[in-house]
Amino acid sequence: MKQPVFNFSPGPAVLPHAVLEQAKAELLDWHGSGMSVMEMSHRGREFMSIAAQAEADLRTLMQIPQNYKVLFLQGGAHSQFAMIPMNLARGKSQADYLDTGDWSLKAIEEGRRYLDLNVVASSAASHYTTIPPLATWQLNPAAAYLHYTSNETIRGVEFDWIPELGDLPLVVDMSSDILSRPIEVSRFGLIYAGAQKNIGPAGLTIVIVREDLLGQVMEGTPSMFNYQLYAETESMYNTPPTYAWYLAGLVFQWLLQQGGLEAMAQINQRKASKLYAAIDQSDFYHNPVDPDCRSWMNLPFTLANPKLEQRFLDEAAQVGLVTLKGHRLVGGMRASLYNAMPEEGVDALIAFMRDFEAKHG
Ligand SMILES: *Cc1c(COP(=O)(O)O)cnc(C)c1O
Repeated sequence: MKQPVFNFSPGPAVLPHAVLEQAKAELLDWHGSGMSVMEMSHRGREFMSIAAQAEADLRTLMQIPQNYKVLFLQGGAHSQFAMIPMNLARGKSQADYLDTGDWSLKAIEEGRRYLDLNVVASSAASHYTTIPPLATWQLNPAAAYLHYTSNETIRGVEFDWIPELGDLPLVVDMSSDILSRPIEVSRFGLIYAGAQKNIGPAGLTIVIVREDLLGQVMEGTPSMFNYQLYAETESMYNTPPTYAWYLAGLVFQWLLQQGGLEAMAQINQRKASKLYAAIDQSDFYHNPVDPDCRSWMNLPFTLANPKLEQRFLDEAAQVGLVTLKGHRLVGGMRASLYNAMPEEGVDALIAFMRDFEAKHG
């Protein structure tokens, strides 16, 4: 069956069509169990095998070292904004945060409720179209960790490098670019991501954390916010989001079939480059982000004539190109090109943009 539309939503976002087909085929009876995955006990043999396979496949995809725990949690990235200070302060009262945009700021705002935060640098002055060079970051020697956002989903600013900060544990919000390219997990203390951008359905949150950072939780931390309890129970401290976990597992298998993250990186780079080229070659469309840190995942763009925006969205939707409206903070359009967006979708968008410009430019 053909994909009905190309969905450029920033999240919850498009899932691989083949994965949805498989989930549909297995919906009522998973592998002859007579049960839907939704109906299974999370502690039963069937679901335990689904859960273990998903973790093993994620470990293979990201080459996660043995001394890292993979936790399957709930509560989205927003819960992590609080869980990180509660779990990683380890007796310290200060932490470093980098500010590259709206999601950085959300993490900072929540982190401030628990710790004394030092903002090491900010790109607010460039309207968040740049990443402050590492040499300008004002680090605090008393910080317990440094937090940053590897891809700012709203304004489309992405790191293609990992900060080198010696022993200071690096904590990264990878909600919108995890699994989009290979990364060196051992460079991080903790990686987290809500599932609904590049992993699976909403409701699941992945945390990958170095073991030695666990076990010194802040006094008063609720049990549900204590990583250690999840690490000790294979993420089954309470009932996990079983169906989302299963679907994430299907996505991991799909990624392995595509050739893993090296292959995805090539495709993602190609998809993003052609859309940026189409935007840059025209005076009709514009992207303000510094070419050194343009995101492969989220590409915001504006029209020279903002009065045409609604028309652009309406006409795009008529040809099956949907959810292109930009974030309310930025306006304009935003095309999110996660792993599951087929290259044909990007080609169709570029063809539509050329037609639209020819008609209205
Ligand atoms: C979407 C997003 C979030 C918020 O995720 P929730 O799961 O809704 O809490 C946080 N950070 C980044 C980078 C995001 O893209």
